[in-house]
Amino acid sequence: MEANADPNCVFCKIVAGQIPCASVLETDEALAFLDINPLARGHVLLIPKRHAAKLDDLNASQAGGVLRHLPALGKAVRQATGCQGYNVLQNNGRVAHQEVMHVHFHIIPRFKGDDFQFNWPAGGYAEGEIEQVREAIRSALES
Ligand SMILES: [Zn+2]
Repeated sequence: MEANADPNCVFCKIVAGQIPCASVLETDEALAFLDINPLARGHVLLIPKRHAAKLDDLNASQAGGVLRHLPALGKAVRQATGCQGYNVLQNNGRVAHQEVMHVHFHIIPRFKGDDFQFNWPAGGYAEGEIEQVREAIRSALES
C-alpha cells in the first residue's frame, strides 16, 4: 500500500491491488478506473493514489498530478462511448453525497434524452461488458 494508505479505504485497496478494478489509466500519482456501479456506461473514476479524504486535503501539486489527466480522460470517454457530453463531478463530505472518503472525480458520459439524475446507488454492468468499455477507453487514450 501507499505510505499513507488507509487500510479500511476501498480505493486504497484498489490502488494496492487488493481489490481488482477495470483500470483505464495509471501513473505514479493517479489511477482511473470504471465505476462498477455506473450512472452511465463508461462512468470513470479518477483518484490520487495517495489517500486523502477530501480535495482540500491535497496540496496543489498533488491535486495537479491527478487533475492533469481530466482532459485526456474526458476525450477518451467521449470517443469510447459516443456520448454527446459528460459531467465531471467531485463530492466532498457525506452531506455532498461523497460515499467513499478518498478523493475522486467522476467522469459521467451524457447522452441526449438520458433523463440523467444524480441518483446513487446506480446501475451495474452485464457479464463481460465492463471489459469492453475498459478496452474502448484505453484504446481511445492511446490514439
Ligand atoms: Zn484511500
